[in-house]
Amino acid sequence: LAAVVETGLDKPAATLDNERINIFLNAGLSADTSIAVNRGVDGVGLYRTEVPFLLQRSFPSEEEQTQQYQSILETYCGKPVVMRTLDIGGDKPLPYLAIEEDNPFLGWRGIRFTLDHPEIFLIQVRAMLKASIGHDNMDILLPMISGIAELDESLALIERAYTEVAKTAAEQGHVLRRPRIGIMIEVPSILYQLPVLKGRVDYISVGSNDLTQYLLAVDRNNSRVAGVYDALHPSVIHALKHIIDVSQQLQLPVSVCGELAGDPIGALLLVGMGYRSLSMNTRNVAKIKYMLRHVSVSDMQQLADFALSATYADEVRRNTIEFVDGHG
Ligand code: PEP
Ligand code: MG
Repeated sequence: LAAVVETGLDKPAATLDNERINIFLNAGLSADTSIAVNRGVDGVGLYRTEVPFLLQRSFPSEEEQTQQYQSILETYCGKPVVMRTLDIGGDKPLPYLAIEEDNPFLGWRGIRFTLDHPEIFLIQVRAMLKASIGHDNMDILLPMISGIAELDESLALIERAYTEVAKTAAEQGHVLRRPRIGIMIEVPSILYQLPVLKGRVDYISVGSNDLTQYLLAVDRNNSRVAGVYDALHPSVIHALKHIIDVSQQLQLPVSVCGELAGDPIGALLLVGMGYRSLSMNTRNVAKIKYMLRHVSVSDMQQLADFALSATYADEVRRNTIEFVDGHG
């Protein structure tokens, strides 16, 4: 911790020319409640609620979930905590819930699973809302939304949970704050429905891991095709640029919470494209903040412009690495 304070890494992140960048944490394990980590970030940009579910032997009860959520909201009090509803299936099967499918990544995962089990969704959202009483820093994030009908259905369920919890809270003299609600942008179909999100959600969060997987039709965990999985593929870069452009037009707050945000090359390109909120794993926070402090926005814009004109992912990688090497 002393080293962190000495180098100023507990200060807010900014670029060389003093443009403020919000740095958030991707969390899910209890280790993320450490105070040293908390000091260096603007909040939690992605709390993967499935992690505690994966560590248990059966579905955690509403009370157990409430306690888990309370502890993270408490640790980050005064800073926003984005809680994503259960994102199981795909690469994250629950040990106590067998799902047999030929194509798990195209199957019953994320919001698709919870909308088919509204009771599981309602318990979780009620637990989140109960945990938020007195903290007022909880946002809700919905994973794997592929169309607006799924969003509408989710919003209706959240409203139901809100009404229930607000009523009990009022009986105890508390006013329940409405959570900000957002969706993950990670299924390519939603790229063409961004304008419809305006007025329906409060913010969006780009899941570059799944967005890359689904845009390139490549399993993110299959080593045989690992060479094809590349978030610097020009099509992924253009998709990311489309998202930031449209969200700026719509004035819809946006952040990136996929691995790309915590990768030095990725962070340079994202800030260059216009992103100002990046959410990443603990181990990347100090490195990314240090790097941003030594680069100007205009340099990053040039890197992003080059990436947008490139034909090959390797050109993007080479050009960005050359820039980094040139800057020590
Ligand atoms: C993503 O898909 O980029 C993401 C952040 O979510 P996860 O890695 O949990 O699927
Ligand atoms: Mg994802």
